[in-house]
Formats: sequence, C-alpha cells, structure tokens
Amino acid sequence: ARGRVVVVGGGFGGATAARVLHRAGLAVTLVEPAETYWACPFSNEVIAGLRPMAAQAFGYEALRASGVTVARTSAEAVDGAERRVRLADGSTLDYDRLILSPGIALRFDALPGYDAAAAEAMPHAWKAGAQTELLARQLAAMPEGGTVVLSVPGNPYRCPPGPYERASLIAYYLKTRKPRAKLIVLDAKDTFSKQKLFQQAWTTLYPDVLDYVPLAAGGQVTAVDPGAMTVATDFSTVKADVACIIPPQRAAPIAAAAGVADRSGWCPIDPVTFESRLVPRIHVIGDAAIAGAMPKSAFAANAQGKVCADAVIDLLAERAPVAPKLVNTCYSLVAPGYGISVAGVYHPDKGVLADVEGAGGTSPLDAPDAVRRQEAAYAEDWYRTITRAVFG
Ligand code: FAD
Repeated sequence: ARGRVVVVGGGFGGATAARVLHRAGLAVTLVEPAETYWACPFSNEVIAGLRPMAAQAFGYEALRASGVTVARTSAEAVDGAERRVRLADGSTLDYDRLILSPGIALRFDALPGYDAAAAEAMPHAWKAGAQTELLARQLAAMPEGGTVVLSVPGNPYRCPPGPYERASLIAYYLKTRKPRAKLIVLDAKDTFSKQKLFQQAWTTLYPDVLDYVPLAAGGQVTAVDPGAMTVATDFSTVKADVACIIPPQRAAPIAAAAGVADRSGWCPIDPVTFESRLVPRIHVIGDAAIAGAMPKSAFAANAQGKVCADAVIDLLAERAPVAPKLVNTCYSLVAPGYGISVAGVYHPDKGVLADVEGAGGTSPLDAPDAVRRQEAAYAEDWYRTITRAVFG
C-alpha cells in the first residue's frame, strides 16, 4: 500500500487507527507527547478508592515494538493546503491523509470563576491523571459530615453517563467511609443517559446521601468561587468541602488550529469516512468529532479508529469506502458489583451517523442482583480487552 498517514493523538481513537494503518502496510506516524496514557474509563473507581491509579496507566512500547513510528511530541499547526503538520520539536511531517484524535479541551472561559487555577482547588478530573488523584485525595481528607458538590454540564461532553457513575461511586464512598456526609449533584440538564437505571439504584442504595438537582429545580451552576469554596446556581449558593466541577468542553486546540472545528468547538465530519467537512484530507475521530447519535466514548473512539483507518486505506488506493455500521456500549458502575449498560448501533443516514432503528438498548429495570453483578464483570472484561487491543 502507498501513502503517508499522520495520526495526531495516541488515545483510544488515534492509537487504534495507527495500528490498523500499519497492519495494512502504510507508512504511519503517530504523534503523541505523553509517554504514559492515563485512561479515563474506570477512573471513577480510583476516585472512590476502589482501584489503584496504576491500573489506568498505559505506554506506547507495544505499539512501537509492533513497528508503528511514535513521535513523542505534540502537533502545533496544520497546513491543509500544503498537507504538512508542524510539530513542537520544530520538525514537520508531510501527509497524504491526516487523522486527528486529540480528545477534548476543558473550556475555562465558560463558567465564571472556573479557570485552570480554580481546577487545582475544584478538580474536574475529566482528563485522567493528576486531577483524578487530586479529587481522590480531597475526598479522603474530607471531614465526616462534609458536603461534596458535583457540577454536571449540558450536552455535548465526553462520556454522557460518566458524571452519574461518578455521583454513584462518590455516594458509595461517603456511605461506607464518611458518616453523615452528603453529595449534591447540580445538573445543567433534566434528562441523561441511563437515567431510570441510575435513579432506581440511587433510591435503593443512597437515599440519605445523594441529592440530585436537575436544571428545572435550579441545577444549572452559574459561577464558582474557589477561594470561598462556593458553587452558585440561579436559586442558591452552596458551600462545599469538596467540589468537582465538570465544565463545558470543546475539541482539543489542534482541531481549531487545523481549521476543522466549527463555531460549536467540535468537528463536523462525513459519516462514511470521518473526513472533515471543512478541510479535505483531514479526518477527525473520537471525542473531537461531531459523530451524530454516537456518544463521546472510548468504545466509540476505538470503533471510529477502525472505520476511519479502513476508509483512508480505500481512499489512498482510489477505492470507494463502504458505508460502515458502528457499535457502542457504555458500562457504568453504581456500586462495586453493580453494573448497568447502554448499547447502540449507528450508520450513515442523511449525512450524519444515526441510530439503527430497533438496535441496542439499556439493561433491564428491576433486574435481579445477579444481572447487575454480571454486568459489572462484563465492564471489567471490556476494559481489559479494549486496553489490550489498543495499547497492549
Ligand atoms: P483521548 O483518549 O483523550 O486521546 C487524545 C490524545 O491526544 C491524548 O493522549 C493527548 O495527549 C493527545 N493530543 C491532544 N492534542 C495533541 C496534539 N496537539 N498533538 C499530539 N497529541 C495530542 N468511555 C467508555 O467507552 N467507557 C467508559 O466507561 C468511560 N468512562 C469514562 C469515565 C470518565 C470519568 C471520563 C472522563 C471518560 C470516560 N470515557 C469512557 C470516555 C473516554 O475516556 C473518551 O471518550 C476517550 O478517551 C476518547 O478517545 P479520544 O481518542 O477521542 O481522546
């Protein structure tokens, strides 16, 4: 196979695409500045003291050993006309096709009082790593009877059920380790992923711990004060001992630098090839892309990495790419041994990735404990399998 492909971002999307392209015999360079990738899935368990941070760490040795060229630096600029990427180490890479999977940026301009410095007092922990450990330490150090506030943004954002898994596991931590402590969840929306399943579990497991406040009841956070440790809504101001603020997000900065992000901050793509609607020969996958009905998840980024790499292989060989079907499953734990899931199947329809009617669904409501235990085990198996396939 002929053609040079550059992949920017060695997360679930980019590392997957690089592997598929390399296996097909293409010259591929994966650009990723970090030596260690800290995985977000299961990082909520780390926050709740249920799992060591080391279980989230992955390296690029296996990818290098398999023959993929990994450039340990970041992409700073893209010239779409010249088809050239400028790297932070001063070098440049020419490409026939470029795949961007850079993930998200947290918007530190969206919520008054919440900037990068505020995140050191009120962690978002929405990129795994130091922030995850900071939030875990703050919870462990919190006095008995303390108040935790969790602020959840409106759509779209990385991992739709993630904030509710976090709420569940923090509630579990408080219930078992911090007598009389409370968790207030302030949500900028009224409906969310797997809502009935989460709320059924909360009523059963955490009735005295978790207070969920939707938008209609004043859940929208309007400002924070990291000095006073207060979180303000239209209706009231809450004093927190620990505040986890998940701010609105956008595609990581390289997307805007390459000209592939639109005014929403995210990247419109063709649903068959993931090629940018704005700049030809640049493809965008994973959280940064506007993937229609598909959620921003590691499962989805991995599926999109395969589909996009196959489309790039076809395009370089001057074959027409075939319309794909993509699958996603998102597991959440609401307590140790209590898992729930949502699954979907997607296909290109009228220019976007749409749900395949009648496919997918969620775990049953009112299921016996054995079903919840089994789904918790499936979640563990999924994590082991996907991280081995991507990094192993
Ligand atoms: P990322 O995985 O973020 O990778 C992007 C990579 O690009 C990073 O390594 C970054 O260093 C690199 N990069 C950025 N800019 C540049 C640049 N300019 N040059 C070079 N490299 C660059 N998903 C699930 O499927 N299941 C779950 O259970 C789940 N749980 C989650 C729980 C939490 C708390 C959170 C926050 C997320 C969870 N997710 C889950 C979502 C999942 O983590 C993301 O959807 C997934 O990581 C997206 O993959 P990506 O490749 O788009 O981006």
